[in-house]
Amino acid sequence: MKIIETIETNVYKSCDVLVCGGGFGGISAALAAARQGKKVVLLEKQFILGGLGTAGIVTIYLPLCDGVGHQVSFGICEELFRLSVSMGSEARYPENWLDSDDVSKRTEKDKRFEVQYNPNLFSMLVEKLLIENGVEILYGTYAVAVSKSDDKINAVVIENKSGRQAISVKSVVDATGDADIVKFANAPSETFKQGNVLAAWYYSYGKDGYKLRNLGFCDIPDEQKTENNKVETLVNRRFSGLDGQELSEQTIMSHTSTLNDIFKRRVDDPTIVPTMIAITPQIRMTRRIDGEYVLDDKEVHTYFDDSIGMVSDWRKRGPIYEVPFRTLYSKVVKNLICAGRCTSVTDPMWDIMRVIPCCAVTGEAAGTAAAMTDDFSTLDVCELQKKLVENGVVLHEKDL
Ligand SMILES: Cc1cc2nc3c(=O)[nH]c(=O)nc-3n(C[C@H](O)[C@H](O)[C@H](O)COP(=O)(O)OP(=O)(O)OC[C@H]3O[C@@H](n4cnc5c(N)ncnc54)[C@H](O)[C@@H]3O)c2cc1C
Repeated sequence: MKIIETIETNVYKSCDVLVCGGGFGGISAALAAARQGKKVVLLEKQFILGGLGTAGIVTIYLPLCDGVGHQVSFGICEELFRLSVSMGSEARYPENWLDSDDVSKRTEKDKRFEVQYNPNLFSMLVEKLLIENGVEILYGTYAVAVSKSDDKINAVVIENKSGRQAISVKSVVDATGDADIVKFANAPSETFKQGNVLAAWYYSYGKDGYKLRNLGFCDIPDEQKTENNKVETLVNRRFSGLDGQELSEQTIMSHTSTLNDIFKRRVDDPTIVPTMIAITPQIRMTRRIDGEYVLDDKEVHTYFDDSIGMVSDWRKRGPIYEVPFRTLYSKVVKNLICAGRCTSVTDPMWDIMRVIPCCAVTGEAAGTAAAMTDDFSTLDVCELQKKLVENGVVLHEKDL
């Protein structure tokens, strides 16, 4: 059966840059665009900023360094890192990076430039920061469709407590993590064919205090697999993260794993309780834009003319990647750009690019670019790079 609805949607607001999704990609994009003096609206379907990094209980800000002594990610990525620990860290505090000028300490084992932060504090501190910078935040608001004329989006249709409305836009940043806007706008996209393992990260409180529990680790690349580091999966099923029914099943399975884990831990500690569970599905890779360039993990230490910043490999020491601007957009939809875990990379590179620092790096570039143009294919990349450098970003490995 099909139901045919004819709906007239009211355009109730307009902005220069509409950022869809308030995870680390969207936060960075909104901040960067607002600092360029543009009218920025940030849509978030939850009532909290941070995406997987708060609502998803993923609170380890992975490294800004390459593991052999060089900081590689800068700008808003570093600013958010410092904000996340401005009222103290939960664990992994990198004093060798934050409190010491002794560079010889920066290669210490287990002391990369990473930290575990408190999700509640971070979400409120970052909300304050965005508001102070003039970003308008619309919580509880889902982007559900786009209206296009020719090869540009002219409005994004949203749904929230007020019903269905639209926001007219000059440019749009897709920071939904799942490339939802890419899909609505019919820009080219790819999905993660292997599917995601079940995860059930949660916080608990018991005899040992307040702790992050990490149930469900990601897949290990084939070349790093040994007899001793096989990943135990919670269930024998993979998840695409792109199907409404499947996401509900995934959430219920995640809750069941958490509850079973608590029952098991109560044998030793009858006081233990979960204090915070995810309010968004803990899924790593779903859909991404198929952009003008697709970055691969083999392009380590490669110089790109259009680099917008650098990232490291959180899984091993040494690799540095320059991120080409062309991985953020497709010229099929000229005023749409991606930030966060839905940029244009191969599957092996996706596992590197999906983490928090990389999302912030692409977010800053996407937001800055979105403030400059409504046609990314003709943007003067040197002008963009100039602005990023002014804001503290280092673009090329040779400049470290
Ligand atoms: C189990 C697990 C463990 C991980 N471990 C780590 C780790 O230890 N360290 C690390 O750095 N990274 C880790 N990651 C990866 C990292 O957390 C995420 O990839 C990163 O935070 C993604 O940021 P993002 O902004 O791209 O997307 P998201 O955090 O997914 O943010 C997207 C936001 O958009 C909103 N949204 C989505 N669709 C819409 C829509 N249509 N309309 C409006 N809003 C929408 C969502 O509610 C969300 O807030 C982990 C991920 C998982 C799942």
